[in-house]
Amino acid sequence: MRTLIIAEHDGQHLNEQVARAVTAAQQWQQPVDVLIAAAHTDALAAQAAALQGVSSVLVATDASLQHATAEHLADLVVTVAANYRVILAAHSAFSKNVLPRVAALLDVNMLSDVLEIVNQNTYVRGIYAGNVLATVQSTDATQVLTVRGSKFAAAANGNAAGTQTLSVPAAAEGSRWVAEAFNKSERPPLAAAKVVVSGGRALGSADAFAEVLAPLADKLHAAIGASRAAVDAGYAPNDLQVGQTGVVVAPELYIAVGISGAIQHAYGMKDSKVVVAINQDPEAQIFKIADYGLVADLFEAVPQLTAAL
Ligand code: FAD
Repeated sequence: MRTLIIAEHDGQHLNEQVARAVTAAQQWQQPVDVLIAAAHTDALAAQAAALQGVSSVLVATDASLQHATAEHLADLVVTVAANYRVILAAHSAFSKNVLPRVAALLDVNMLSDVLEIVNQNTYVRGIYAGNVLATVQSTDATQVLTVRGSKFAAAANGNAAGTQTLSVPAAAEGSRWVAEAFNKSERPPLAAAKVVVSGGRALGSADAFAEVLAPLADKLHAAIGASRAAVDAGYAPNDLQVGQTGVVVAPELYIAVGISGAIQHAYGMKDSKVVVAINQDPEAQIFKIADYGLVADLFEAVPQLTAAL
């Protein structure tokens, strides 16, 4: 039996999390295939084939896959599912959309956001916003799971796997792609940034995000993140939310500014290599997670830090 990875991509480049899923997939010690579904697959298939540990690349090429819906992708995956004991992807908005649907169609459980693969059907997952680690065992014949990318090193390049062509089922009816809108930013994408500067409710306004936080982020070539309280208050856009119901980040450096460190926020950033917290309350929860803590008023400390940098 084999392991199948569903590759996330933007039509031209594989998401860097695919290489991490390839490393996770090695744990089963069975051949690992990567599924590329797109309107133009040549470049994407070449990138997947180059990843060490990949046995073969399944290529599904069709105009209908230019903006594939989760329903369409799930139907495609199900056509090959009988060949696989394990179907997985890195945990993301993309895979959270597709893989539970695959699991439902196969009538098996969905194992979401796996942190550690203990053996071929036993996994460690976070529950209660990551405060408790649960070891769970699945008895399903097909294991369908997403893995936390930051827990697995990226597979290196240097491979030359072969490809197989798949036939593409007709697009599912009931939902269709209409349009997409991107927030264009000069900054690195939040999920992949090496440095993240995040602001909380204490910033008090969108202007403070632009005038206090952004100059610090500029100096560090950092992405900007936000707590949910800051997003709900309209200080920062929704796609910058870090946490359980936002983006999960694991940068080299995470600077939390005016963020209390609620468990739902910590869930999204506690795998960061170095955490710096600036908060005027010495009892703030964030200091329990932080490697470096500064008890200070952010409106004084952040401009000073920016000037010093
Ligand atoms: P606060 O908790 O109000 O903290 C503000 C902090 O700023 C305080 O610690 C204060 O001491 C400090 N401060 C105030 N003024 C200054 C100053 N001048 N200088 C320095 N420090 C100052 N939250 C998320 O972030 N992400 C999520 O994904 C998320 N998902 C959730 C899901 C659910 C189901 C629920 C129930 C909640 C979720 N939350 C999430 C909300 C979470 O519980 C907290 O309410 C939120 O994270 C608080 O945001 P905050 O730290 O910015 O605000």
